[in-house]
Amino acid sequence: MRIGWIGTGLMGAPMAARLIEAGHQVGVHNRTRAKAEPLLALGAEWAGSVAEAARDRDVVVTMLSYPQDVAAAYEAPDGIVAVAAPGTIAIDMSTSSPGLARRLAEVAAGGPLAAVLDAPVSGGPAGARGGTLSIFVGGDADALARIQPLLAVLGTTVVHHGPAGSGQAAKLVNQALVANVTQGVCEAFAAAEAAGLEPDRVLESLRVGVAGSPLLDFAWTRLAAGDLEPGFKVAHLAKDLRLALDEVGDARELPGTAQVYALCQAVVDALGGDRGTQALITTTRNSRGTQ
Ligand code: NAP
Repeated sequence: MRIGWIGTGLMGAPMAARLIEAGHQVGVHNRTRAKAEPLLALGAEWAGSVAEAARDRDVVVTMLSYPQDVAAAYEAPDGIVAVAAPGTIAIDMSTSSPGLARRLAEVAAGGPLAAVLDAPVSGGPAGARGGTLSIFVGGDADALARIQPLLAVLGTTVVHHGPAGSGQAAKLVNQALVANVTQGVCEAFAAAEAAGLEPDRVLESLRVGVAGSPLLDFAWTRLAAGDLEPGFKVAHLAKDLRLALDEVGDARELPGTAQVYALCQAVVDALGGDRGTQALITTTRNSRGTQ
């Protein structure tokens, strides 16, 4: 397929790399060109703008940071909706707003695009590299059937949740869970530290019990190494939780999620938004008076 790929950050770059390696013809665009360079070395062509990435493609994929980035990529005067060839299928794989996904699907219905699907993912950079992502799809079933071979390169689980926006809604449910588990892991790690326990030994016990999960392994091992670099940026979790609280359930219905949202904002204010979500531990350590 001729694919236009827009957004080559922590997730977008390894996902696009898999499509290139699977033999697809991929044109890539990213705000900061340097992050796309490794893909050019793999055989991708550089697209100097969103429009260049979106023209004359079978499929256009967006993997951007925030809903406003997604809206601009699709709806700007020279955006995807305006320049895409008739029949192009657009897929937004960013974690974004269900309401925006519905709007983009409606816009597509009135123009040359065949469809805009929402298809956010879970699995992190490791899942992106390995092609083992979980993909949450909303939108037109026929369009989904046509891009199934492409999604199969990126993920092992592709679930169609229903009409446009339902993929994003399901992903926000996932993020509410991710937030509460990540906060739980950070609290448990800080408690283990305060009790004078050896983190590696505690993990050995935890991971095989009912508390075991990929998220426990991921966050705990980074905390044990003192590593706050992002696999998943804390500003992006704050964005997801704001979306969940605005579009899926309010603070009374999702009280834990609302608390973790406030803690994410505190981390963003103190450390900036580019730390990994395991930086949530800093709020717990501050409360304990430790660093
Ligand atoms: P990221 O590393 O910040 O990548 C986002 C990329 O989009 C950046 O390279 C950014 O360019 C580019 N971008 C943003 N706006 C743009 C625009 N208007 N035009 C062109 N490029 C633009 O974030 P990520 O971790 O890959 O996440 C991407 C999306 O997937 C987010 O919605 C996130 O919530 C979601 N997600 C992340 C993970 C994870 O574990 N990391 C997992 C699942 C889902 P610059 O290089 O200039 O900043």
